[in-house]
Amino acid sequence: MIATLELLAQLPYEPHYFLNPVKLVAFMVVFAIWVVFAQWVDKDAVAVNTYRTLWSMLTLASGAAALLLGLFIPLFWVGFLLFFIINLVMMVVYILHRNGLVREEDRVFTPTHFRRLKEEGFSGKKKQKEVTERVRITDADRKVVTIPEEEEGREQYRLTQDLVFDALWRRATIVEVLPAKDVAKVSYQIDGETDQREGLVRQEADLLVHFLKQIAGLNMEERRKPQRGQIVAAIGENRHKIAVRTDGSTAGEKLTLRIFYNEETLKVPDLGFNPKQLEVAMALREVTPGMILLTAPSGHGLTTTIYSFTRTHDRFLQNVQTIEFEKEMEIDNVTQKVFSASGGTTFTEQLLKLVRSDPDIIVLPELRERESAAIAAQAAAQKQKVYVGLMAVDIFDALRKWMTLVGDKGLVAKSLLAVGNQRLVRILCDQCKQAYKPDAQMMRKLNLPADKALYRKPEPEYDKHGNEIACQACQGTGYVGRTAVFDWLTVDDGLREVLRRSTSMNDIQNYVLKKGEVGLQAQALQKVLVGVTSIQEVARAVRQGNGASPGPRPRPKPRGAGKPDKPSGRR
Ligand SMILES: [Zn+2]
Repeated sequence: MIATLELLAQLPYEPHYFLNPVKLVAFMVVFAIWVVFAQWVDKDAVAVNTYRTLWSMLTLASGAAALLLGLFIPLFWVGFLLFFIINLVMMVVYILHRNGLVREEDRVFTPTHFRRLKEEGFSGKKKQKEVTERVRITDADRKVVTIPEEEEGREQYRLTQDLVFDALWRRATIVEVLPAKDVAKVSYQIDGETDQREGLVRQEADLLVHFLKQIAGLNMEERRKPQRGQIVAAIGENRHKIAVRTDGSTAGEKLTLRIFYNEETLKVPDLGFNPKQLEVAMALREVTPGMILLTAPSGHGLTTTIYSFTRTHDRFLQNVQTIEFEKEMEIDNVTQKVFSASGGTTFTEQLLKLVRSDPDIIVLPELRERESAAIAAQAAAQKQKVYVGLMAVDIFDALRKWMTLVGDKGLVAKSLLAVGNQRLVRILCDQCKQAYKPDAQMMRKLNLPADKALYRKPEPEYDKHGNEIACQACQGTGYVGRTAVFDWLTVDDGLREVLRRSTSMNDIQNYVLKKGEVGLQAQALQKVLVGVTSIQEVARAVRQGNGASPGPRPRPKPRGAGKPDKPSGRR
């Protein structure tokens, strides 16, 4: 010990080591690397979707601490070594963390990464990456979009291909690219669930939006007002219409893609009715005049159901007309009028005009004016078949709202044929759903056979690197598509009389419940018993439909999984 101290004492004291150019350069090099690293962490943390503030603070704090040590430890090389090591450790820790969050090909400082850097060079030559057509995209003029020749166009094309292919593979129905300051957030809606995806750096997002606007035939100069266009994307035989929408926001243009799967061909038998309900609903198709009231909470597939009922009619022989606030899909051989408040007439006036023109079937997916309800009911009492869509959490809520809107019990009783209410539940993935023995007490409580095995989504599995192994059929979500659960009330003569005489909703409710034919929960549990969906999913759908928050949801992150050639397009 003493010997060491003596040795140290013999070392020359260097108060002005910064004047030594070698030491100064060494110090500055490490400092410069740290500055570049800190800037990269700030951006990269957003791109890989981790805690940006936390990692930036850690990088800054460790860098500052290292700098102080480096400057104030009198022995230059000891201080320098500490300065170097602390920063190095910080870099290694962050890189290990971020590499754990991304796919193999996006990891940095790996052999693959170095090989790629060697091939492409450091200076942005990666734009010459191979660009291939994975999705055949057709533009607004129905021309196939080919791979552009020049570099910027190729990059735009590649970004578009990546996004559309991934969205189709994951069966996303809505894709949103929302610009923030330096980045753009990307989110999907898959089977009604929002899934935050890896973000894009702002420059890439701008290229992507530019390209999609161009091929969707939108006005390139307009960056504020909402614009709508359409493209078609196909993988093999699976063609998907994609509605492209842009809206200005303070941070830049927001892009929304709505991808259509089979919604445009669905008819009543495809929706999820049980056999008895289906028989009744199909029989009512032939009954004219009369009204069918279709209801659901927001986000539970009401529009799809109304369109499916419309499609079930013979649109060649019958004159079918709609008035809508927003035309979500085209229906062949149906006159779809889009109501616009700027047209000078009210919705009610337009509806009156429509009724006078004497169509066979009137479809009103949404009513926003009270007066129009009475007119619709009158038409349904006298001559036409009328479908009306209404937001409601159950059959009784629907009846209550409808009777208030129409304001005439007698007219409601005379015109109403049936009321439907629905919830969407996700369908368990056939490839990975797991049978399990449910808690007997819970089963008794739900009035289900106690010894019945039920199905649920499987526990996630991991490979030896700790990455989740995603099921190829459902991309790890455990569900593929959705189906509706219906509660259905047919208005018979008995109920008609009750409706007419009722003094309160209780009268109606008592009558209906005594007959024991309704109940959304019982219908949903039937789907659980046959393994179409899970108890957990039914609970979630009911909670969500009744206005409660959907609660926390584990984020599936399938990694390292090869992609199939075709995305499965199911509703
Ligand atoms: Zn699966």
